[in-house]
Amino acid sequence: MPRFTSPLAEALAEDALARFLRYVRIDTRSDPNVAESPSTPGQLDLSRLLLEELRALGLEDAELDENGYLFATMPGAGPVIGLLAHVDTSPEVAGAGVEPLVHRGYDGEPIVLPRNAVVVDTEELRAKAGEDIVTAGGDTLLGADDKAGVAEIMAAVAHLAAHPELPRPTLRVGFLPDEEIGGNDRQARFDVQRFGARCAYTLDGSTIGELQAETFTAAEVLLTVHGVDVHPGLATGKLVNALRLAGRILAALPTDVAPETTAGREGFIHPYEVHGGTASATIRLIVRDFEDDLLQQKVDRVRAVAEEVVAGEPRARLEVESRAQYPNMRDHLAPFPDVVEHAERALRAEGIEPISVPIRGGTDGSLLSAMGLPTPNLFAGGHEFHSPREWVSVQDMAAAAAVVVRLAAEWADAG
Ligand SMILES: [Zn+2]
Repeated sequence: MPRFTSPLAEALAEDALARFLRYVRIDTRSDPNVAESPSTPGQLDLSRLLLEELRALGLEDAELDENGYLFATMPGAGPVIGLLAHVDTSPEVAGAGVEPLVHRGYDGEPIVLPRNAVVVDTEELRAKAGEDIVTAGGDTLLGADDKAGVAEIMAAVAHLAAHPELPRPTLRVGFLPDEEIGGNDRQARFDVQRFGARCAYTLDGSTIGELQAETFTAAEVLLTVHGVDVHPGLATGKLVNALRLAGRILAALPTDVAPETTAGREGFIHPYEVHGGTASATIRLIVRDFEDDLLQQKVDRVRAVAEEVVAGEPRARLEVESRAQYPNMRDHLAPFPDVVEHAERALRAEGIEPISVPIRGGTDGSLLSAMGLPTPNLFAGGHEFHSPREWVSVQDMAAAAAVVVRLAAEWADAG
């Protein structure tokens, strides 16, 4: 038997699923090499569809701006509360030609996808035996990150539109482009004033029950080593090979402060790209922690390691650039404890115990919270993001949509 969290969730399930299947067929893969917003036209295709659907539900001020931000209002009583999800999918995996497959009454065994011999098999999936699971066909991602969130918000709003007797505050819906390739410059395009909400919730988490109010604080570091390039046949005593120096820097970085050797509240230093040649070589690193001062210590450590290696070759030169990427949202949410408390109550009203683990990553809410819009993150139900093994349970999507309806009731009562 399908295990719904409540009759409300069961009532929302088929609409959430139908919307999800519609949205994932649109290729909205974002492109980090394009500066414009949105970075790809497919995102606008989905946002235009959502614009029409919101208008059809009676949200009259629905508006899609030139940067691909779609905002709409459902009037109610009480404060203005935002509901956010992102329309793009990860550039890491193919996003065109997604063929969603619904595995009704999943039997608890590994799911073999029809293409590329992809097998979905995790403990979390097996625990979903009896539920309805959606996967892609094996050659693309599914796009549950974050079209599950989009579909859940749409299903909840459609339910509220169909049931005017249900309590709700004024709800401000926002569908955003390019979260996957985000960064301060892009996200600064979100117009917090125009959105005009007291707080918001992203539906962009994973496991049912997740309520995340803490993220990494994040920085990027670029190390560029300049050597001395000479024809190798004439190089005796002259050539200074930037690649070799870059290799020594990589070897000297701590291995116990890496993503693969840390967990929980530990931060890390992660070199993820090297390019260049004998004349010059650049190493790109991301640095993460949960505390700003510990983040700075790690950035300083990268710099110290690189300086020490390059100091061993006086003819070489080192350039170090670092920039902030996103802050831990915790400190920006702390002054508004009711934002998280209302979400906890909404989850419990749906019979779900909140799971509050810090995110080893960032969300749209990291920067939005710092920009004055307190925005914790709620589960959307997807798993194995950014891979062809991505999957989502229909029952979890239904639960998330139901939590949004309950959240509306919590804030209406508060108003
Ligand atoms: Zn996401």
